[in-house]
Amino acid sequence: MLTKSFTIILTVCLASFTVLCAQRIGNDQSPWSPPRSYCDRCHHPLAWWQLIPLLGWIVQGGHCHFCRQRIAVYNPLCELASGFFAWRLSDPELFHSFLVVLVIQALLFIASCDYYHGYLYPLSLIALLPLPLIIPNWTWPSLTTLLSDLLFLGLLTIMVTRFHGLGGGDVLFIAVLLLTFEIESTVLIILLACLGTLLAFFHSHQERLPFLPALCLATLIVISY
Ligand SMILES: [Zn+2]
Repeated sequence: MLTKSFTIILTVCLASFTVLCAQRIGNDQSPWSPPRSYCDRCHHPLAWWQLIPLLGWIVQGGHCHFCRQRIAVYNPLCELASGFFAWRLSDPELFHSFLVVLVIQALLFIASCDYYHGYLYPLSLIALLPLPLIIPNWTWPSLTTLLSDLLFLGLLTIMVTRFHGLGGGDVLFIAVLLLTFEIESTVLIILLACLGTLLAFFHSHQERLPFLPALCLATLIVISY
């Protein structure tokens, strides 16, 4: 119970920092400088209590304490989702819980880079290496599976270049999914992500919607259930 509680708290606190890193790196800023977080609208440095994950947003009623502008709901949602999946995936074993924290942060970084800046750092996919270790009963894929995965990926790449629906980052991420999961689970993740993106489209009516946040969320849902 103690390990689980500690994993949830650590994941939520790190989630806040991971989203900040994705935001700043994409803006050519260092994650460490400026040292204090600030409001994106009025640029006023934030007080310590405003930085408490989830609680800071709730206490301020979703609006900046200084300029009263609405704070994007993306950050508290990420913190909430990270805590939820840490609760679902962690167990009393310390090393397993450490891997869960790592995988959730990697997926969050990938999702946030696409959400804020519309691209994927290919190197960030390396942080997904421990992903198979948190999937129950995971086994290495057979040669036949690898060949059918390759065929699926080839078809997907043709679709991307032909219809321009997905980006290169989306295809790279799907390639990692194919190496990690069986094809049925990969297709389920893609379908769930499509459904999520469709719902987001009806809500926001934006022409270009980032697909990686939906893929990352769908990945965590499939691992959890
Ligand atoms: Zn402000």
